[in-house]
Amino acid sequence: QEVRPHDLNRAISRTLFLLENQSVFQNIIIVKNLAEDLPPVPADIQQLNHVFMNIILNAAEAMEGRGELRVTSYLIPGRKIAAIEISDTGPGIPKDVLPHVFEPFYTTKEQGKGTGLGLSLVYGIVESHHGRIMASNNHDGGAVFRIELPLEFDSD
Ligand code: ADP
Ligand code: MG
Repeated sequence: QEVRPHDLNRAISRTLFLLENQSVFQNIIIVKNLAEDLPPVPADIQQLNHVFMNIILNAAEAMEGRGELRVTSYLIPGRKIAAIEISDTGPGIPKDVLPHVFEPFYTTKEQGKGTGLGLSLVYGIVESHHGRIMASNNHDGGAVFRIELPLEFDSD
């Protein structure tokens, strides 16, 4: 792990840039709402990219290539935590699935299509950055993933 200060807005924008020209994204509208002056967070950039990539690819799969992907970042008021939310307009995560999404090998995809490892890796990465990740659904039904990362932590 190589931890350095990184701009979350820049990191997620680069991931979106890499993905938006892929065919699965052709009919997906990307809406960015990124906080200005978001302070950098200590992070391993490769691991951070991995986190964003996994969540965004899951969203694209859930939307079956058509819909809206919203990426929002903000500073949590009064706390030294940056948050990033990635939401989609897919079918959302069923209530009985929600408690299991971060478990290794848990997948609802048909055999051969998903390993169920993506979100468990994501969870481990966020945890190693002293952050938190939560899955939920939007009022309009799609899935939302919220990642919170502290602006500073003592290295261990
Ligand atoms: P995989 O993508 O291989 O199935 P993941 O760990 O990435 O494994 O995701 C686990 C499960 O979480 C998925 O199989 C799916 O049921 C659910 N999931 C993840 N992201 C979304 C999303 N954006 N919308 C709906 N369900 C999702
Ligand atoms: Mg996945």
